[in-house]
Formats: sequence, C-alpha cells, structure tokens
Amino acid sequence: MKAYRLMQWKTPARLVDVPIPEPGPGQVLIKVAGNGICQSDLHFMYDWEASPPHLDIRLPMTVGHEIGGWIEACGPGVTGFETGLPCVVTLAGCGHCEYCAAGWNNYCPNKLKVPGMGLDGGLAEYTVAPTASIVPLEAIEPWRAAPLTDAGLSAYHAVRRVQSLLTPGSAVVVIGVGGLGHMAVMVLKAVCPARIIAVDTSKQALALARDLGADCGSLSDETTVETIQEETHGRGVEAVLDFVGAGATMSLAAQVIRPLGHIVVVGRGRGAFEFKDRALPYGAIMSTTFGGSKLELMRLAALAQAGIIRPRLTRYPLSEVQTAFEKLRNGEIVGRAVIFPDGH
Ligand SMILES: [Zn+2]
Ligand SMILES: [Zn+2]
Repeated sequence: MKAYRLMQWKTPARLVDVPIPEPGPGQVLIKVAGNGICQSDLHFMYDWEASPPHLDIRLPMTVGHEIGGWIEACGPGVTGFETGLPCVVTLAGCGHCEYCAAGWNNYCPNKLKVPGMGLDGGLAEYTVAPTASIVPLEAIEPWRAAPLTDAGLSAYHAVRRVQSLLTPGSAVVVIGVGGLGHMAVMVLKAVCPARIIAVDTSKQALALARDLGADCGSLSDETTVETIQEETHGRGVEAVLDFVGAGATMSLAAQVIRPLGHIVVVGRGRGAFEFKDRALPYGAIMSTTFGGSKLELMRLAALAQAGIIRPRLTRYPLSEVQTAFEKLRNGEIVGRAVIFPDGH
C-alpha cells in the first residue's frame, strides 16, 4: 500500500510502498477513509531534530494522527469490534492511573502509542491502532469525522476549560482561525451565549469566522487590543483561546483578559510569556492543554452528527499529499484539509 513516511528528521516525508500492517494483540487494523493534516505534522517534518521527549518516535514513521475509517480486522484476542464499523482514532491512556480514572486519558503520563504519534499514522491506505483509541461513529462519514479527533477535540477541550466563565453578556477571543480555531468558533456558538471575537492575520480566515458565527473579527495588528477593548466597552474578555501560541499572541491575550479571566494556550507556536507580578490582571489564569478526553470527543462527535457543527473541509487524494502540506505551510488552507487514499 501507499504510505507517506517520515524517513529522517528535518526532511519532508515521502510517499512510498509498504506492506499492509498486521494488528497485534490489543490492536485493530483500520481501513483509512480520511486523515486530517495538522501543523504538528509540519513540526515533525521541518522543526524537530529528534523525537519530542513525550512521544518516543522512532523513524521511519508514517505521518498522520487525525484518522477516520472502518475496522478492517482485529488483532489476536480482540473482541467487541465488528468488521466494517465506522470509527475515529483518539489518544489512549494507560487505563489505570488517576488521570485515566478521572476520564482525562489525554493527560495520562503513560499514554499508549497511537497512529502518527509513535505508531505508523493515517496518511496511508491502512493503519493499526490500539482498541483503547477507537471511538465508534454513528451518523457521519468517517472522513468527515477525522478532523474532529485533533483539530476539533483540542478546540472543544479548550472551550470546556473556560465554559463556566462564558455567561450571557460575556465575551471570548479566538486567536487563529485555522483548523483548530474555526472548530472553536463553531463549538462556542453551539454551547454558550458569549460574544465571539475572532483574531487572525488573514482576511479570508476572519470571513470564515464570521460565516461560522463569530460576532466580529479583527485583523491581527497594532490596533487589535484597542478593537477588542472597544468591542467590550473597555471591560476586556472573560476568556481567550490562543490557537497560535506565539509570544505576540500570548501578550495580546494578557492585554485583553479581565480579572478572573482564563487564557488557554492551545497552539504550539513555541512563544514565550514572562510571568511576573501583574503580568496578568488579578485572578486571571493562563494554562496550556493537550488534546481532549475520549468523552469530550464523543460529545463533539454528537454535535457533528446532529449537524450542529459543520467543519469546513477540503479533500485531497493521498497522491497529492505533498501539495496539501505545502498549502498548509503557506497558510492557504481554509478550515482543515483531509487526505483520502486514492481509491478508498
Ligand atoms: Zn495535530
Ligand atoms: Zn493513565
């Protein structure tokens, strides 16, 4: 089968022929319907010089961690999964630590390896995943659900972290309306009454945000703080979701957050923020997140299956995966790009 494989660090992956993998004990083989592509795939290919310490990645590895498809076969001893079951793949915890017991498999310190993050990923015709990572689907095509597992779930989890602050009359800023940010605008619109202010460097992204329900948009420039203060009558906002994570976006967030507000930095822009006395208004919190829980993914999938959120997706065949990544790198993808194996 064809697979898009990272052979060495700081080098783009290559489309090569490899055998169809066999599922081991505790694993299933998935026929891939679609795989969403992500900024972190670009970090794997262009920025990292070795495996990020929390992932233990050995090369070569097939890229792709946003997977939707169908169960094709079960590994030895695996029961409870029927062949043909439509599903998506998410993070899998160890199942027996405190975080897993609390339902926070995404914060488990002993996560299982999953496709695209240690195991061979979903930019291929087939992939193998641990059963703990499988979430069955009901009323949505698997390729459409694929981007819910990372772009969607990371956004949903960030919204859930601040949701108690987003009462009637409140306001929230979404910085970066790309794959994750556009999901966040839709989720916010679906679950809370807060006024949504979108910030991006691209007019096209702001137009998308407005389309999906944002109340206003601001181009990211030296007037952004002023615009947000005007929009909130000088009060500032209850929450900021930063999907960029650059020094400039964290600093913007700190300038518009209210006392007791919450800034969630989701983007991996490798920015720095100096925390010192009065770096934030009193009582304000700044936190980071990683993905979201399996239960949150189920709830998000329910929103998508009910048609309440409709992610903006563009499809590319696997034979054009390199072109899709170039577009992502150049900021030319609106919403999320999903790669499908030619023929599936
Ligand atoms: Zn990702
Ligand atoms: Zn655990």
